[in-house]
Amino acid sequence: MVNTPRKFDIEALVASLADIEIITDISQVSKLSQDYHTFSPILTAKLAGKVGDIVIRPANQNEVLKVAAACAKYKIPITSRGSGTGNYGQCVPLYGGIILDTSKMHNICWVKPGVARVEAGVKLAAIDKKAHEIGWEMRMAPSTYRTASIGGFIAGGSGGIGSINYGLMGERGNLIALQIVTLEDEPRIIELRGDEVQKANHAWGINGIITEIEIPLAPAYPWAELIVTFDKFMQAAKFGQALALSDGIIKKEIGVFAKPIPQYFTALRPYIPEDKHAALLIIAEPSLEFLPNLIQEYQGQITYQKSAQEALKGSHLAEYTWNHTTLHARTVDSSITYLQSIFPTDNLQTIEHMYHHFGDEVMIHLEFIRAGGKVANPALQLVRYTSEERLNEIMRYHEEKGVFIANPHSYFIEDGWKRAIAPEHLKFKEMVDPYGLMNPGKSKFLSVAFAEG
Ligand SMILES: Cc1cc2nc3c(=O)[nH]c(=O)nc-3n(C[C@H](O)[C@H](O)[C@H](O)COP(=O)(O)OP(=O)(O)OC[C@H]3O[C@@H](n4cnc5c(N)ncnc54)[C@H](O)[C@@H]3O)c2cc1C
Repeated sequence: MVNTPRKFDIEALVASLADIEIITDISQVSKLSQDYHTFSPILTAKLAGKVGDIVIRPANQNEVLKVAAACAKYKIPITSRGSGTGNYGQCVPLYGGIILDTSKMHNICWVKPGVARVEAGVKLAAIDKKAHEIGWEMRMAPSTYRTASIGGFIAGGSGGIGSINYGLMGERGNLIALQIVTLEDEPRIIELRGDEVQKANHAWGINGIITEIEIPLAPAYPWAELIVTFDKFMQAAKFGQALALSDGIIKKEIGVFAKPIPQYFTALRPYIPEDKHAALLIIAEPSLEFLPNLIQEYQGQITYQKSAQEALKGSHLAEYTWNHTTLHARTVDSSITYLQSIFPTDNLQTIEHMYHHFGDEVMIHLEFIRAGGKVANPALQLVRYTSEERLNEIMRYHEEKGVFIANPHSYFIEDGWKRAIAPEHLKFKEMVDPYGLMNPGKSKFLSVAFAEG
């Protein structure tokens, strides 16, 4: 059975794709039309009821080409989907149409020292596992590494665990090549290499269906995990910065959490007293010897330590960092929402100001990354939500003080990390998607030819 009523000639499209897996069951289609925009009360309201008409699950690039040709022929929008863990409603179809689910495209083409080539639907953890066999690993991964696909991370994510060494995904060199399928009358496969990859990097699936990816790898270390607690928040923040700047200490993650955030980490509560702020760290075992002195300088206390071997079992600290922090907090209190921001680099004054200014209303969660050769502080602050107006006021106040806000309460690409679509990327878009069928409605500056879904 297929959904009704329809704006598009779905029957004709389905008939032309005989051998490809198609899901028409309404509850499954609804489920696969969702992502984690539900962290935002604003997006939850705005995106309610937006669903695709059907889900198509191609098994390989040839099948993607066939789907693309059919969508171009019948002028049906197409929203690519990896695992649906995006936070901005990126893979919620605004105008119905096809959800292109890449989960069957999970082939690891090859892994060599320093580089891997994979299909778009491969889970990040699977790439890591394969790379480890030859002593390498992903340079960075979101805290959703177990569920998220590489295609979704590139098209929708920004960075994560490992960004302390390599910056965000958008940094030159973090992506070697992308193969995309176009939505022209006769769809083509285009390979973007080197700086050209930026045309489809973090483009939310509006600049091509990514089918294959070549990604640089990092040398793998035995990673130990630690929790360090502090009496004062600024001691924790200063410690985080000092560790981030200690180039000789090899690390993969520095997350700093103002109290009461650690109390939302139910499984970690035995290690973090209620009145303490905490840093969650992932450090290479050979560097561990250097930590105690640094921790002492900032009056911290190690309350939890697992060797790399032990860290393979039980809770993984990575799954408390980045936007997993928000997930844990919302599990305890679903009225909590969040911000995504980057504080000005090189000093912690703005962070200290916000800490005192907002108090418990905006609980500070800092991450430390390397960006443009400097240490930078993205933050995913937890917000005690009262109203949309107040939320906007909080974001405006941050912007006035020089904090970059990637607004997680908007589904427009330009409100997020990528502020504008560069003219050359727009030209590329016009070429690969002449009918405006790819994830329509997600850019403020592109017109949409369909009626609201
Ligand atoms: C608990 C939680 C923690 C998170 N932590 C982080 C984090 O640490 N760092 C971070 O950067 N993000 C984080 N995110 C958001 C992040 O975007 C995702 O985790 C991940 O990168 C997306 O992968 P996905 O496969 O789920 O993509 P999806 O959600 O399926 O898709 C994301 C976007 O990419 C597009 N897309 C997917 N596949 C393709 C393709 N093959 N071709 C073209 N476009 C495609 C979709 O249309 C959509 O616009 C988090 C989200 C949650 C819910």
